[in-house]
Order: sequence, then C-alpha cells, then structure tokens
Amino acid sequence: MVKQTAGRDALGEFAPKFAELNDDVLFGEVWSREDQLSLRDRSLITVTALMSMGLVDSSFQYHLTTAKKNGITKTEIAEVLTHLAFYAGWPKAWAAFRMAKEVWGEESTSIEESSGTEENASTEEGIRTEDAKSDYQKELLFPIGQPNDGFAQYFTGQSYLAPLPASQVGIYNVTFEPGCRNNWHIHHAKSGGGQILVCVGGRGYYQEWGKAAQELHPGDVVNIPVGVKHWHGAAPDSWFSHLAVEVPGEECSNEWCEPVSGEDFEV
Ligand code: MN
Repeated sequence: MVKQTAGRDALGEFAPKFAELNDDVLFGEVWSREDQLSLRDRSLITVTALMSMGLVDSSFQYHLTTAKKNGITKTEIAEVLTHLAFYAGWPKAWAAFRMAKEVWGEESTSIEESSGTEENASTEEGIRTEDAKSDYQKELLFPIGQPNDGFAQYFTGQSYLAPLPASQVGIYNVTFEPGCRNNWHIHHAKSGGGQILVCVGGRGYYQEWGKAAQELHPGDVVNIPVGVKHWHGAAPDSWFSHLAVEVPGEECSNEWCEPVSGEDFEV
C-alpha cells in the first residue's frame, strides 16, 4: 500500500477532510490498487496529466521523483516528454524538461562534473536551489519572474524573465542562476537598435568578441551597439540580474550564435 502523509503534513489542520482524502483515498486506495495498474503506469499517466495542464510546480516535481522511484529511466522520461510535446504543447515540454533534468540529472552531473569531493558537489548544487533563489529574491528590487523558457535554447543554465510594466520601450529584468549565460549573439537593426544592460543584482560578466570579459556589479551600465557580437551572464558562483533595455530601432532582430566555451567563461 502507498503510504502518503503530504496531505496531513500540509493541510491536516486547515482542511482535515481534504488531507484525509488525499492521503487515505487517493494514495491509500487508488494509487495502491497495484493489482489493477502498476505504480509505474500510474506514474506515467499522472506525469502526462500534470504536464498537459501545464503544471510544473512542486506537485509535478513530486510526481517526477515518484516516477523515477517507480522505475522510469532518464531515457524513458525524455521519450515520454518528447512524445507529449506534440499533443500537450511545445512550451509545456520545455518547462517539463527543465524539471526532469533536475530530477534525473542529479547523480550523473554531480559525478561527471564534480572535480572535488562530494561536499563540494553539494555546495555547488546548493547555490542553484529554490531556497537560494528565494534568498536572492529578498535582496533584489525587481521580481525574478518566470523561467525564461522562450529563450532557453540560447542559454546555458537556467535564466528567468520579468517584463517590467513599461510602455514605450521594452524593459526586462533578466536573472541568471550561478554559471548561467547566454550564447554569443548580435543585436541587429537597420537604424537605431542595440541593447542597454543596467545591472541590478549579484555579480556577472559581459564580453565582446575579441576582448576580455568585464565583471559587472549592481549600478554598472553597459551600452551594446548593434552589430557587436557579445554575451552576458552570471559569474560561476553568483546569481546575477540586469535590466535589459531594448533600444528602439528599425528592423530590429537578434542573431544567436554558438554557446560561450568553458575557456571564455574561465574569466
Ligand atoms: Mn545582448
């Protein structure tokens, strides 16, 4: 029988009946009918249902973790989410993959990428947790916003986007988790255009092609002219946020190039 206490833990006092239905009926009875449908199959359909609704909150994370426990491999969840992308929607798959990578990626990344002890690995992981993010938010004047899924393909690591309620000129607060940076890119325009970065939190870097990277701190302003190949992002050990101001112009576009190599990033 599946033992569940999440309902009583979270809502036992506030909504005792809901807690009881959650723990004793949904999990204690329905999830527990393994003779009718295996836990593995129940995990598959639950993940499918949650992703289809666009739910990628802690409940989704719980069910991904449960799916892993119930025997779904990394290869299988990648295939499940790829298949679902066509039925549930591409952006939902992007969001789901971000969380699946956390759940299935944990062991392999810490073993492959950690050059130090286990303690080092967990310390490094610790600076990118939800707790670290909410600590960082407390000292930041602007909202961190939502996962920057629309541009995720042009970023290494997790970034977040919060459009400021500005008219006339687009202004976005962009937050990079430690080590996150965007690919080399170029802002194009027929006239006007370009980008202004106003640094508002943490510590990061800006680098133009062929030049040394420059360290950025809150209060620093970077004027990026059109046609200049560059990248911006967080220091490896710090969160970083800048406001990105889109300078108005004619026929503005972005050209996305290769990711920043480890060598460039060892600033
Ligand atoms: Mn830029």
